[in-house]
Amino acid sequence: MSDPDPTSSFMGEPDAAGRFGSFGGRFIPETLMPACIELDAAFRDAWADPEFRAELDGLLHDYAGRPSPLTECGRLSEQLGLRLLLKREDLNHTGSHKINNVLGQALLTKRMGKERLIAETGAGQHGVATATAAALMGFECVVYMGEVDMERQALNVFRMKLLGAEVRPASSGSRTLKDAVNEAMRDWVATVESSHYCLGSVMGPHPYPWMVRELHRVLGDEAREQCRALLGGADPDVAVACVGGGSNAAGLFAGFADTDTRLVGVEPSGGAAIGGGVPGVVHGMASYLKQDEWGQVEEAQSISAGLDYPGVGPEHAHLSEIGRAEYFAVDDDEVVNAFQVLTRTEGIIPALEPAHALAWVIREAPSLAGQTVVLNLSGRGDKDVAQIMDLLKGEAK
Ligand SMILES: *Cc1c(COP(=O)(O)O)cnc(C)c1O
Repeated sequence: MSDPDPTSSFMGEPDAAGRFGSFGGRFIPETLMPACIELDAAFRDAWADPEFRAELDGLLHDYAGRPSPLTECGRLSEQLGLRLLLKREDLNHTGSHKINNVLGQALLTKRMGKERLIAETGAGQHGVATATAAALMGFECVVYMGEVDMERQALNVFRMKLLGAEVRPASSGSRTLKDAVNEAMRDWVATVESSHYCLGSVMGPHPYPWMVRELHRVLGDEAREQCRALLGGADPDVAVACVGGGSNAAGLFAGFADTDTRLVGVEPSGGAAIGGGVPGVVHGMASYLKQDEWGQVEEAQSISAGLDYPGVGPEHAHLSEIGRAEYFAVDDDEVVNAFQVLTRTEGIIPALEPAHALAWVIREAPSLAGQTVVLNLSGRGDKDVAQIMDLLKGEAK
């Protein structure tokens, strides 16, 4: 393990072994090593190719709807005593930031001459985004999803099927997201000649954490430019995002890493890998993860299925260790409050995931007085409305 180098530029490339300081790397079976090496080379080549970049930019613009706007929150800013700006990833096609990553990996799949996509999904959002890209490109698509999650997110299962994907239940272990990742990796080992594993966050073995962050960098770069245009060339005081695996936060942070902007990631208190985890190895990477006293990976528990991941991307572990980013946890009731506050004051129904980031802003408002805060609104709340309805009904009784 190498020492973290605080003098190196923040959020550049990992080292040759895919490490960010002492995190990241490739902890995978020998059978997957050639696939990861091939993918690394293919992405490196594509990312340096202006034609690939132009094709991806075209899709992001004409298909996904980029650039997403930056919305100034007038009423809520006044209420909180700070200046709140929202980066509107909720307005992207399929309703979240996930499409940025998926379109990039789908184009890369085509470039590698493969025509089958494998994905894992928890709440179903990444599965829907991957099935969407597969329909667009004419690829076969298999999505692994924990049996328990399939029951909880039946509507997204049906969406994926409508889009032409096959949804395969992960029926081992806790039958949730971490088991779906294991199943997806197993499929990839067996089908690597024809298949690309379209991983949904900044996690897994190198090059995924780096590649997925670069594919989401577009949202951070846009946000920085939009902030500078609005703030007379200045950067915001704080950039804040929710953290599950950490991809939307990584995209936002990448836009501000070399500025003086304070970077804040917000985890659910029931799944706080950085706040409450320990260094360990899971899903091919070294990072922080929630483990029990026997070293078994623990289940994450939160109101938001999209943040129920027991680990966190290795670059976040590194950014935390070197002090460039800070990570905090919020409780479910703070999240439900934030969800309602944004809905009522700004007419924007957020997904429960970014409501975590807002919950932190609301809690910290007194210490952030007068500051400008850019918050990545990673997704829209349509998928969560039924859950909130049940919850509030229960409270009214
Ligand atoms: C999936 C998802 C997340 C969590 O994933 P990250 O990789 O941490 O960004 C956050 N917000 C929304 C809306 C999601 O769909």
